[in-house]
Amino acid sequence: TVRTRFAPSPTGFLHIGGARTALFSWAFAKKHQGDFILRIEDTDVARSTPEAVQAILDGMEWLGLHHDEGPFYQMRRMDRYKEVIQTMLAQGSAYYCYCSKEELDALREAQMQQGVKPRYDGRWRPEDGKVLPNPPQGIPPVIRFKNPKDGNVVWNDLVKGEISIANQELDDLIIARADGTPTYNFCVVVDDWEMGITQVIRGDDHVNNTPRQINMLMALGATIPQYAHLSMILGDDGQKLSKRHGAVSVMQYDEDGYLPEAVLNYLARLGWSHGDEEIFSMQQFCEWFDLDHITPSAAQFNTEKLRWLNAHYIKQADSSYLVNDQTKRLAKLGVQVTVMPNLAAVIDLYRERAHTLNELASSIAYFYQKPVIDQAAAEKHLTAEIKPAMLKLTQALATVEWQAEAIHHVLNDVVTEFQLKFPKVAMPLRVMLTGIAQSPSIDQVMVLLGRDEVIARMNEVKF
Ligand code: GLU
Repeated sequence: TVRTRFAPSPTGFLHIGGARTALFSWAFAKKHQGDFILRIEDTDVARSTPEAVQAILDGMEWLGLHHDEGPFYQMRRMDRYKEVIQTMLAQGSAYYCYCSKEELDALREAQMQQGVKPRYDGRWRPEDGKVLPNPPQGIPPVIRFKNPKDGNVVWNDLVKGEISIANQELDDLIIARADGTPTYNFCVVVDDWEMGITQVIRGDDHVNNTPRQINMLMALGATIPQYAHLSMILGDDGQKLSKRHGAVSVMQYDEDGYLPEAVLNYLARLGWSHGDEEIFSMQQFCEWFDLDHITPSAAQFNTEKLRWLNAHYIKQADSSYLVNDQTKRLAKLGVQVTVMPNLAAVIDLYRERAHTLNELASSIAYFYQKPVIDQAAAEKHLTAEIKPAMLKLTQALATVEWQAEAIHHVLNDVVTEFQLKFPKVAMPLRVMLTGIAQSPSIDQVMVLLGRDEVIARMNEVKF
């Protein structure tokens, strides 16, 4: 059965690139009724933090990318890695190296001067018929992997195609430091092996690690997983996605008013396609997803497209979800939602227009607090000539039956009486009631605001 994993290093937030890697690994497992494993690669003790672990877990939770196993923490598996190292030493696929830092520096220096690529020269590497130096006193050794000398490491990368690396290019990797701690590449190998990973789906910044990892897996007698290296994601401006691009953490998208459905749908299309399909559910995605249709070239982030998808999912969202969400977002704006006007109805009036949940909240805030009148709109629409019509309208509204059609009639009567065009009345009314000159159908806005509030806001305006 298929077993995939997402293996973030908790040195920062779950960012967009990581989230896409997680999504693809998750979807591949789901498509094949397999298992998706979460593994926290926290061996870089200096840079890993509990906050970052939590941020990753929160991000995965928010996206709904649930793992079937884990989370596993590499720091809790140290004993196991050390055991495997002992086995490798015993089998002869790893060896002690007593080179001091000074020695290695000197070697490096000499190689640079000769114009060759600096690499370990294998002086402590055991070979048939080779006499090794005597271990020096007082130097704790590192442990190196005995990488094959000849031949090539070849794998058929599921995204990048066949990749072949000559073993001569790879030197003997340190798998345990002098203090005994196993190194990053080695932990990954043991984990992928023991967790039975069948497809390693990860960012292509790890492509250089793959030949070494394959060699170590072979030395352990492990089945070699398939590898899929995803290209990186570029920002809107074509530059490598970085902190400069604002929202780097997935949770920032939550903060900024994006729905997880929209972010997921967006990420799914970031470097993968299924014909012309743009909008689809995660269930549909898991059915369609394959590694053949991943573009090997870098994918470019497109904020406009994400906003477009988000608008779609806001239109579709469950009413009670939005009520809950908007209550919180309005509170953040300092606006307390009251029973009237009914929030669900207010949201329905506005949800077609919003690209983010924050936009939605700011556009409906005026229902629950006095609007901030846009000065340019006021100057343009609240003119002296319109004052008599507005006074008349205020009077008529005091007694009209409070429903959209009747209100619309009253508006039309005033328009006719003063020989105006409809917008000449509707625009100033919008400014008075909502603060700006754009709104959904003004009679519907009025119905929801309620008679008293409408009249109060109209009376407040000075021409
Ligand atoms: N921990 C690595 C990272 O966060 C991923 C390693 C892997 O997927 O093999 O970049």
